[in-house]
Amino acid sequence: MKRRAFLSGAAVTGAAAAASAALPTPAIAQDKRELKLVTTWPKNFPGLGTSAERWAQRISTMSDGRLTVKVFAAGELVPAFEAFDAVSSGTADMYHGAEYYWQGKSKAFNFFAAVPFGLTATEINAWIYHGGGQQLWDELSAGFNIKPMLVANTGVQMGGWFNKEINSLEDYKGLKMRMPGLGGEVLRRVGATVVSLPGGEIFPALQSGAIDATEWVGPWNDLAFGFYKVAKYYYYPGFHEPGTALSGGVNLAVWNSLSDADKAIIEAAAAAENDFTLAEFNARNGDALATLINEHGVELRKFSDDVIKAIGEAAGEVVAEVAAEDPMTQKVSDSFMDFRAKAVNWARIADQAYWNARELPYTYGK
Ligand code: CA
Repeated sequence: MKRRAFLSGAAVTGAAAAASAALPTPAIAQDKRELKLVTTWPKNFPGLGTSAERWAQRISTMSDGRLTVKVFAAGELVPAFEAFDAVSSGTADMYHGAEYYWQGKSKAFNFFAAVPFGLTATEINAWIYHGGGQQLWDELSAGFNIKPMLVANTGVQMGGWFNKEINSLEDYKGLKMRMPGLGGEVLRRVGATVVSLPGGEIFPALQSGAIDATEWVGPWNDLAFGFYKVAKYYYYPGFHEPGTALSGGVNLAVWNSLSDADKAIIEAAAAAENDFTLAEFNARNGDALATLINEHGVELRKFSDDVIKAIGEAAGEVVAEVAAEDPMTQKVSDSFMDFRAKAVNWARIADQAYWNARELPYTYGK
């Protein structure tokens, strides 16, 4: 009887009122939130700054505007390398950066960005998503009041820009080179003087002679910074960063205050961005490399096997020593290295075997 009376009343007050009364009331205005996101990248820098902006936009779109994310480039709210502290302390809510920039907090962070001779982009995704990596990363970052997640990947990077040829390890002796993370530790081991500069500071340092050489990312990004104007030789492969994961971090108190739905939105937006960015790097790098060589006269060089082997030896020593620095880093390193051993075995008969097959001389396409 009550239901009939209700329907009857609704009919009198109008169909629109009936429709709205029949639907659950969505949670809207009162849950609106603006989050501050700091980055380690120049404003809208291709692939990096733009990825941060897209992550922010995805979160806003997926939440139908309930969550908005305001992006601050390096230096706008805090300097690039202070992004982590800003989120840890709550000055900012989120960051978009690379974990090796925080290795002063714990060397374990390197394993969630890049390890020389370590995992490729697809392999680090496999370790983080399916190999126990995320759980270890959560444990590490929780100690700094941060919830971490993958948000982008550059793919294999280039070995760097030099004004002299690198023919043996001797050529690294006394060389002042910009290289972050464990790659920097490895080059220090073979005699280089290593600095870690944020992206926006590299070109002037190379131009003024404050550094002799640098690595940054790959052809697309390196073309944008114009390194070809101040360095002649462009070396590959980037053994120091074989598939650098870029990361998002959310202040843990902010994270814990979010609904499960909003957490899922932020994570899904990050996962989408992780795929999308790697695809963008892979799509742009080949064309950018051709531009560097054909239009700017850059000389491409491959590190010799002897140089690679010697640096590989140094890298193995560095990773083992770094792991022994504290129990958490050892735990992360053990997991990473166990996964690496399995990944190497699988790649040998999967990706690597296919790439070798594709390189054999036969007529296909042009
Ligand atoms: Ca790099």
